[in-house]
Formats: sequence, C-alpha cells, structure tokens
Amino acid sequence: MTGTTLDDYTDRYARRVRGMTASEIRALFAVASRPEVVSLAGGAPYIAALPLDAVGEMLNQLAAEQGTTTLQYGIGQGTLELRERICEVMALSGIDVGCGASPEDVVVTVGGQQALDLIARLFLDPGDVVLAEGPTYVGALGVFQSAQAQVVHVPMDADGLIPEALELAIAEVARSGRRAKFLYTIPTFQNPAGVTLTEERRERVLDICERAGLLVVEDDPYGQLGFDYEAPAPLRARRRDGVFYLSTFSKTFAPGLRVGWILAPHAVRDKLVIASEAQILCPSAFAQAAVTTYLSTMPWRQQLKIYREVYRERRDALLAALADYMPAGTSWTEPGGGLFVWATLPEGLDAKAMVPRAIAARVAYVPGTGFYADGTGTGHMRLNFSFPPPERIREGVRRLATVMEQETAM
Ligand code: PMP
Repeated sequence: MTGTTLDDYTDRYARRVRGMTASEIRALFAVASRPEVVSLAGGAPYIAALPLDAVGEMLNQLAAEQGTTTLQYGIGQGTLELRERICEVMALSGIDVGCGASPEDVVVTVGGQQALDLIARLFLDPGDVVLAEGPTYVGALGVFQSAQAQVVHVPMDADGLIPEALELAIAEVARSGRRAKFLYTIPTFQNPAGVTLTEERRERVLDICERAGLLVVEDDPYGQLGFDYEAPAPLRARRRDGVFYLSTFSKTFAPGLRVGWILAPHAVRDKLVIASEAQILCPSAFAQAAVTTYLSTMPWRQQLKIYREVYRERRDALLAALADYMPAGTSWTEPGGGLFVWATLPEGLDAKAMVPRAIAARVAYVPGTGFYADGTGTGHMRLNFSFPPPERIREGVRRLATVMEQETAM
C-alpha cells in the first residue's frame, strides 16, 4: 500500500491492537533530536560519562576470547553469574538475603520494558484494573493498554503517592464491580514527576495494598541515582510477599545493552521464565556477559557516583533556570534524584497545544498528557535534565519561557 494512511488490515487485527496508538512522545523525539532544538523531552542517560574506551575493550574481549559462549544462546532465566551480580546491586539498596532476595528468584529481562510486559502477561486479563500513580511512566501505560487493562490513576503530591487517595481508588474500583490486580508504582525519583515516596508513606502504601489483596509492582530504575540524599529503602526491602521488584541497568550503566530484571516470589519466578521464553527464548547472552563483566571488573560504584554528579549539576541548572525565567503561576517539583522535573503551567496554558510553537522556538518537552491513560495532564510538562549540558538546559528554559509568555498574551 503506497501513498495512503488507510490501513487495509484494520478488520483483521486482534482486539488488543485497538488499544495500541502511536506514542506522541516517540513522534516528538524525532523532531526533538534535530541539533538546533534543545531537547528537554528525552529520558536518555548521559552515556558520554562512561569510560567508553575501556568498555569497548571489554566488549572486544568478550567476543574475541569468550565468543563461543557470549555469542551463543543462553537460558531463559538469564545467567547465574549475572543474577548473582544483580543480587549484589540490589543489596546496595537494602534488598538482601535478609529479605529473601536470591539469584534463584531473579529473572533477567530485555530492559525494564520487557519486565513490565511479562508482569502484564502473567497478571492482566482484558478489563482488569491497574492502579498507577498519576502521572506515570509512558512505557508502562503502553504495556497495560495493549494488555487491554484499564489504568486508574492515583494522585501524588511532593511526598509521592497519597495513601488516602489510594484507599479511595481501591474502594471506587470495588464499588464498580471491577477487580484491581496490582498497584504499579515508581516510588523513588518517579518518572515523570520527580518525587519520592516518604518512609512513612511506604509503610502505609504496603499496608493498604496488603489489606486490599493488591499485588505491588515496584519499578525502580532510578533508586541508585539520588543526588541529595540516599533514597528510602525500596518497598521490596520492607515486604517480600506480593511485591515484585523491577529494575534495569539502563540508567546506571547503558540502555543500549537492554538488560533489566525482575525479583519475584519463588512460585511466580517459574511462570515468568516460561512467559519470557515464549517471548524471546532467552535474553542476549552477549549483553548479559557485558553487564556481568562490567560489574565484576570495572569500577561501577565509582561510575554511579559520576552519573550522580553530572545529573546533580544539570538538575541544579534546570531548577535555577526555571526560577529565573518561568512566568508567574508556574510551579515545578524539585527532585532529589532521577532524571526528570514535572512542571505545572499557569492556569489556561495547554502544554500539548503549545508543542508546535515550542519546537518552532527550538525547544522540546513532553506534554503531561503522555503520562496519563485518560488524556488529562494538559496543564503539565515533563522536563528532562540528564542529557543536555547545563548551558543548553538554561537556553532551553529561556526559549520555553518566551513561548509561554507569548501564549499567555494570545
Ligand atoms: N520503567 C521506568 C519508570 C522507566 O523510566 C523506564 C525507562 N525510561 C523503564 C521502565 C524501561 O527501562 P528500559 O529502558 O531498561 O527498558
């Protein structure tokens, strides 16, 4: 079919395809990557901060000296060596043997994204409800939507998810005769909101979910990227039953390798492996070997520190520029880690409608609507600070403020 956007296959698709819509964010990234545009839209880590020569040498050796295993098929669960290393990484955050973390219960995935997809495959039937922060990670929304589940958002404030709102949402779903399967949460340095669930609320959220018989899916790509303070221990470090812990090396090492994992209750672990084998047979042996070797031979804790320092400086640049340039009535979160700030626009401004004018002014951001399943969020935007250098961030915010001022005058 040429020259038309009509789709001859519409009648043939499976029902789940109806929920699949092109992410406006992906389309935005294509424009935002033009060199003249300051992109505050992405979520890319600053890979140039890695010792690329040393990493290159390591990858070369893995192929040249161990190629007969690293370029071969592997097992569905992922290599034991990597799962052991993953347990060391989790122990840094407080998820250790004391709380039942074991290499046996780790499943290696193709990034955090496959981890989410596996959870959806195991637990979601069409029509099931997922409770999730509002706003939440756009890639998780895509997964839940293609599983034909319904996402019910629970609001946050500066201290993260609001426990009372969670209770209300659970009651509301029950009243409507539907079944909420799990709470999907990013409690630490949340994407996109940049807020962190407090110690006290972590306990309350776990209690509420336990009482309601709700599983907890804890997504934690950013927990080790705290700049100002150590993040509170993950939910999984506090409770083992009913809590699934998902993480990835995408933000602490390199997203191009596509290595993530799930720590799951023992019984579920087998099902996850079966589901993953049906999807991908096995995660990349080469990528797993790269991460394993990186963690065992290179100064990865030092690298985490370098990432944190780079991001702290960029976060500071973004917050300072917002304070200097943003029109009155704009507010924003002040993240203690992670990659994102969530801004709330003055009354009447529509972040989604403003995108073309912002791009014309050579600045890009993601409108808040991308992070809600229900089309709300027009009054918000997500701003990323991990990728552009501080002076570009400042220039981007200056351009953005000019667009907002013109918009207000319209
Ligand atoms: N969960 C969250 C909250 C994320 O922000 C991301 C990546 N932006 C992912 C999962 C997916 O991670 P990966 O890139 O490893 O697939």
